Amino acid sequence: MSSPTPTSARPHVVIIGSGFGGLFAAQRLAKADVDVTLIAKTTHHLFQPMLYQVATGIVAEGEIAPATRVVLRKQKNATVLMGDVFGIDLAGKKVTSRLLERITVTPFDKLILAAGADQSYFGNDHFAEYAPGMKTIDHALELRGRILGAFEQAELSDDPEERARLLTFVVVGAGPTGVELAGQIAEMSDKTLKGAFRNIDPTEARVILLDAAPAVLPPFGPKLGQKAAARLEKLGVEIQLNAMVVDLDYDGLVVKEKDGSTRRIESQCKVWSAGVQASPLGKQLSEQSGVELDRAGRVKVGPDLTIPGNPDVFVVGDMMAVDGVPGVAQGAIQGGRYAADAIKAELKGQTPDQRKPFSYYDKGSMATISRFSAVMQVPIPGTKKKFETEGYFAWLGWLALHLVYLVGFRNRLNTLVNWFFAFSTRGRTQLAVTEQQVYARTAIGQLSELERKTIAEVEADSAGADDPTGSGPDGAGAKGAASKDAPAG
Ligand SMILES: Cc1cc2nc3c(=O)[nH]c(=O)nc-3n(C[C@H](O)[C@H](O)[C@H](O)COP(=O)(O)OP(=O)(O)OC[C@H]3O[C@@H](n4cnc5c(N)ncnc54)[C@H](O)[C@@H]3O)c2cc1C
Repeated sequence: MSSPTPTSARPHVVIIGSGFGGLFAAQRLAKADVDVTLIAKTTHHLFQPMLYQVATGIVAEGEIAPATRVVLRKQKNATVLMGDVFGIDLAGKKVTSRLLERITVTPFDKLILAAGADQSYFGNDHFAEYAPGMKTIDHALELRGRILGAFEQAELSDDPEERARLLTFVVVGAGPTGVELAGQIAEMSDKTLKGAFRNIDPTEARVILLDAAPAVLPPFGPKLGQKAAARLEKLGVEIQLNAMVVDLDYDGLVVKEKDGSTRRIESQCKVWSAGVQASPLGKQLSEQSGVELDRAGRVKVGPDLTIPGNPDVFVVGDMMAVDGVPGVAQGAIQGGRYAADAIKAELKGQTPDQRKPFSYYDKGSMATISRFSAVMQVPIPGTKKKFETEGYFAWLGWLALHLVYLVGFRNRLNTLVNWFFAFSTRGRTQLAVTEQQVYARTAIGQLSELERKTIAEVEADSAGADDPTGSGPDGAGAKGAASKDAPAG
């Protein structure tokens, strides 16, 4: 067990997560007289809004996921550690993380928790095996493999029923991610793959977008939702609303209609983009501080984004539940920067009770539907109204904005070139698929489960041998290691 405590006497800020909340908080502390340790279970800062472009072969994964330690290379007060944090000890002011069998304990003076959210299957976690979500690079690459793999298998099949099943793609969840994915799968099969097979016609692929809700893109309101739906239908996407998935297996899914009847859709390639569940680390804060969690496991933080009785512990981004703040990149960026600013203000003598409450500045929302088509909603300053538009200019706005927030000049340049190629020729440069992409998630899941059981057994044995009470020398760390979450894989 190692303990990489900075040797300086400066306050030590530990940040969990290298997403929008974590990275922007770390960067905001660049000139502060503190030591920053950023711990994340991935080596990169992931730009999630463009994951669907990785899944559908438009951009490469590296372009949307620069290495965090390289991004922070010049920030001398920042250290990056890779590790899956499984224990937060509020009273002892330390976090415990694991990288393979190596356990690391990191003490903190200030903690910024920005561990984000995962896909929620609403209690049906076994659906994940057949319908991956869209939260990580692993997910996006697996999905790319599944989509292209389905076409490959269909090319080899003489059975019309099997072919139909292989060429039916179902996207569950008609929010921005579902809409973007459905649009891109339709364009890929209609344009990029057209003429590339000899026994099947990829343009005959069915793309179904379904949702239990009665509308497409509910947060954008009925007008933009209907426009998005109309555009998708023009691309050939079948939209099925008021349709709740009640079962899912390798070959298809069962959908329950509003009237209670059920029907089955035969489909090999399914994607889940229907719900989110905040990091389980929130539960630990709740158990130790009594802070409430909402239904999605988000932490109901106070006005200064801290938890009761712990003014040094901030929760930001997709993990925080704050009225009026959506789970989007801007919410996380602004939350991360707020926490960093509060820490900096304290260095100048401000006390926690003097903090101004966090206030979210809504810069608007966007979602792409297809090439040359997006929806955009921007608040009109000084009013409660929103400017709404859709089509080509919204799409250009989406491209420009996402380019600005992509980290790294070379990534921006590469992405721009790939976009130019993909949108002007309808070709895609990133259509490679490996066996690892398709099968690794299941294998990693099984390995993690095995590893977790082994660690639990070893720890139980050694705790029994050393300590008849079984509580072990480091209760929080040892128990945490045995019981907490393994990498999602
Ligand atoms: C497919 C998709 C499309 C999206 N599109 C848009 C969009 O168009 N516009 C928009 O504004 N928002 C969009 N979002 C939402 C936006 O990406 C999130 O709101 C934002 O990323 C939240 O930032 P975060 O820092 O809270 O979490 P994340 O960005 O998810 O980062 C969480 C970090 O914590 C790390 N982590 C998690 N658990 C642990 C642990 N136990 N130990 C150590 N590290 C851990 C992860 O590795 C990661 O680095 C999209 C999200 C997805 C998934």
